[in-house]
Amino acid sequence: MTSVLTFVEHDGGTPEKVSLEALTFARALSERMSLPLYALVIGADGAVASDALGAYGVAEVHVATDDRLDPYAPRAWAASAATLMDAGAPAVVVGPGSERGAEVMAHLAARAGLPLAANCTHVEPGDPFVVTRQRWGGSLLEVAELEAPVALLTVAPHAVQPEPATGPGAASCREFRPTLDEADLIVRVAGRLEPERGAVSLSEARVVVGGGRGVGSADGFAELEELAELLGGTVGVSRVVTSLGWRPHTDQVGQTGTRIAPDLYVACGISGAIQHMVGAKGAKHLLAINTDREAPIMAKAEWAVVGDLHAVVSAVNAEIRRVRGS
Ligand code: FAD
Repeated sequence: MTSVLTFVEHDGGTPEKVSLEALTFARALSERMSLPLYALVIGADGAVASDALGAYGVAEVHVATDDRLDPYAPRAWAASAATLMDAGAPAVVVGPGSERGAEVMAHLAARAGLPLAANCTHVEPGDPFVVTRQRWGGSLLEVAELEAPVALLTVAPHAVQPEPATGPGAASCREFRPTLDEADLIVRVAGRLEPERGAVSLSEARVVVGGGRGVGSADGFAELEELAELLGGTVGVSRVVTSLGWRPHTDQVGQTGTRIAPDLYVACGISGAIQHMVGAKGAKHLLAINTDREAPIMAKAEWAVVGDLHAVVSAVNAEIRRVRGS
């Protein structure tokens, strides 16, 4: 039966937040098209995700199982989606707007010879589909027509709030073996760097304390680390900081880094270049600390403090500790 199929990323059977966003988007589309919502998960432990996916309105979970799918191999994962597409002829395939989601969907599109509409925020089903999607890192919205026998879409990260379905749902679970060949395994993950125990993930942190060139050195991040810890958040940085080797690329916020959506973003010594701001536009509140009142970020901030970030952040840390009596 044809369907709206969603590629779901998971961690040991727990769906990732961006995939729940994609599922929420896909469910609305499936309801408008009167089609069932199916999910593709990769790896045997994906079967564990069935309950969580049922709650999001998924009728069938298709689990691709093959030892060669772990560790991550983008072409092999796309081959799994292609196997399922050939067998089930979905009308639409939706992927999450994560790096991995975008990579797998791009491989799937190339394999199937179909166009891919990336970073969608809205879709009107029809012939053709009309999609609204983010371009230029989210600084422009484009309305485009998608003419294809199967519509391939990714959902812009943080454009949709994940919402479980209103009715109770139980998803059936089916395992399948994808058709893989050796060429699908040429590119695969060779190793993983685990974050420190207890570290808050940048993309999901409720508070991000950002540091830019104005921090001055790798050691200068100590006060920002302390503020992030006091607020239960994590540190993010501009690209200059990673280019200078002060912090790893995994901390980078922006077009070529992580997209963040915290309740509060405290941007310290960051000028507010467009490539940085597209990664921070999901922040609900922005506090900027900068010595230059004319820095572009100061006009974008809800609160702007003109001053030396080291003096301001250490005073804020001291005040939080004083109020908490710690
Ligand atoms: P600067 O622009 O140098 O700003 C430093 C700021 O610190 C200034 O406003 C200054 O007034 C202030 N300052 C200095 N000293 C102090 C102090 N003691 N206290 C308080 N304030 C102080 N950038 C990203 O961040 N993320 C990306 O993903 C990204 N992707 C890119 C992709 C492309 C294709 C390109 C071309 C660029 C990209 N960039 C990205 C780079 C981006 O254009 C900017 O160069 C970068 O964001 C600037 O970093 P910054 O704000 O830390 O440094």
